[in-house]
Amino acid sequence: MPDSGAKPSTLSVLPRGAAGAVAAEKSLDTMPSVAERMWQATDDISGFAIQDVIAAEEDRHALKLERKILREMQRVDDEQASYEDEVVRASREQAELSWAAAFERATETVDPELLPHESAEVLKSLIQRNLLQYTDMRDNPTRFFEAHRILSKRLVGGFGIRFTVQFNLFAGSILGLGSDAQIAELDKLRDDAVLGCFALTEAGAGVNSGLVVGTTATWDPSTRSFILHTPDALARKQWISQGLTASQMVVIADLIVQGKSHGPHAFLMPLRNAHGQLTPGVSVGDMGGKTIANDLDNAWISFDSVRIARSCMLDRFATIEGEDKYVSRGGETMRLEVIGQRLLTGRMCIAQAALVFARTLFKTTREYSDSKGVWNPADTNAILSDVPQLAALYDRADRDLTDMEEFVGEVESQLCRCLSESKIPSAELVEAIAVCKIRGVGLATELCFKLQQEVGSFALLGGGGFEHLDMLLCCKFAEGDERILMQKMARDRLKQVQEEIGGGLGGWFELATELMGEAPRRREAMKALQLALAMKTRAPKQNQKQLDDVAQFEVDAETNQAARKQEAKAAMVAAWTDSWEEVYELAAAICDRHIAEVTQREQAQLEAEKEWVILAKRKEFAMHGRL
Ligand SMILES: Cc1cc2nc3c(=O)[nH]c(=O)nc-3n(C[C@H](O)[C@H](O)[C@H](O)COP(=O)(O)OP(=O)(O)OC[C@H]3O[C@@H](n4cnc5c(N)ncnc54)[C@H](O)[C@@H]3O)c2cc1C
Repeated sequence: MPDSGAKPSTLSVLPRGAAGAVAAEKSLDTMPSVAERMWQATDDISGFAIQDVIAAEEDRHALKLERKILREMQRVDDEQASYEDEVVRASREQAELSWAAAFERATETVDPELLPHESAEVLKSLIQRNLLQYTDMRDNPTRFFEAHRILSKRLVGGFGIRFTVQFNLFAGSILGLGSDAQIAELDKLRDDAVLGCFALTEAGAGVNSGLVVGTTATWDPSTRSFILHTPDALARKQWISQGLTASQMVVIADLIVQGKSHGPHAFLMPLRNAHGQLTPGVSVGDMGGKTIANDLDNAWISFDSVRIARSCMLDRFATIEGEDKYVSRGGETMRLEVIGQRLLTGRMCIAQAALVFARTLFKTTREYSDSKGVWNPADTNAILSDVPQLAALYDRADRDLTDMEEFVGEVESQLCRCLSESKIPSAELVEAIAVCKIRGVGLATELCFKLQQEVGSFALLGGGGFEHLDMLLCCKFAEGDERILMQKMARDRLKQVQEEIGGGLGGWFELATELMGEAPRRREAMKALQLALAMKTRAPKQNQKQLDDVAQFEVDAETNQAARKQEAKAAMVAAWTDSWEEVYELAAAICDRHIAEVTQREQAQLEAEKEWVILAKRKEFAMHGRL
């Protein structure tokens, strides 16, 4: 084909859309301007370049036009996309509102006055309505948390615990720790409205259950089954919610394979058959009456060499292979954070429940005190809400609850991201969740008990909400006791500061940076240093004493070494116990830092500055004393 001499149009090779617009801009930028091309033309004696200039000018115009069109198309695309996003967001919002209304209606039959078996039936019908699915914790975690909030608003007594045990601890453990096949069983558990319980707490370990587990699950290769056993009274499970009504149970036991302990693992096993008869070898009893939540059954449970199938082991992260080989899988070793994943979601639910409880109690009390007249010599229309100490409490409650809700909301959204991606939360997030529970429950408790003291006879009236106040005590120790969580925070931070101190120049530099850093971090570093020093001064005393004691025994070197190790550990524990004030002060500083970083940065900074001034003044005073 003869060459026509015509240049291929630049337009025809340009891509469409945003990339096209960028490409068009680029090609315009690199093209010489008309003036430059004219200079080239006059330099060209043949005059032939003039045609080039004209052609280039035409291209330039075409490109300009193309750029305009592409920009316009891009704008229309963007507008269309944002319109579609808005429509999707609005319809999702509407769907969630309708869902919340339906869930609220479905829980109308919840009544704290029901007997435990009646309350259990209410839960069964709620499960079958499938408004909240067991997989929502992973697929729609926001809805999972919202369901808990809705229930808390209704001050439903023991039903709130029953609900969270079923959806979070029982079904949630299957979802988090089960294999795909075990997770698939959740649909049947829902269709049959099977009630489940979660047996972690043991009599001896109390709030340290999980860290200490006495119940054993011993692998028997000859029958390819586990033998579940309660070796002594201390290992008996207790306080197990729904333990008198459930037919299935997730139980935490120390897994023993070939005589070796592999630590706590979760097993899903039948507790009762369809006729309500207990699995042979399982004993159950009632924990007795409580000050609140008597619509919830709480049981102690013990096992006498109960044989359970191999398939009972929730085996997403660990399994038994071959005859008797323990294997980790799924990219995680079975550690406390993995086995206790549901304790993390539970902690969020409890923090939220406590805050919603406080909001609701303040709202109903406020409605009462707004309409309740009080005698006032200067004002015949005075109302209870105007009494200054109560008015101040209302103000403070509103302010502090708002801040706490902001912090808890932020942590919840981070946790929701982990749940959606089936990821184990980072150490920092785990700590932030603990802060939500410690501070959320702490604030709700402080405010509600104060309100009880200030509002007169209303606090005694049934139906006002104050009769459920002890629920806040439950919140304090459930799913991770406040004190134990605080100790864990302090221990982690102490380890870090000890590493920094022992880490040579680099470590000291890191510590110095923290001590000079942002105020909340600085305060935390200071408290960590104080605890490290307190431990250092308290521990050697213990060590010396114990070394002398050890020297009195004339036994072989190995026993001596083991004894010394044991003694040194005891000395550390004793020093830790003696330093309990510094431990909790450090934990409080860590909590403050987490909250300040989300909410009131500047205020926290100012307060920490104040603390430095006080410390400096104290030092100055001490110096004067010595002089
Ligand atoms: C209504 C209700 C429902 C429950 N449901 C379930 C359930 O379904 N499943 C389940 O597994 N468990 C459940 N529990 C158990 C609950 O989660 C607690 O673990 C348990 O109640 C702890 O009780 P305890 O009094 O034996 O603790 P203890 O260990 O005796 O602790 C008592 C107090 O001492 C303090 N303390 C203890 N040890 C230390 C320490 N080393 N350092 C500092 N302070 C310490 C703690 O602050 C704690 O508040 C439930 C409890 C209740 C009341």
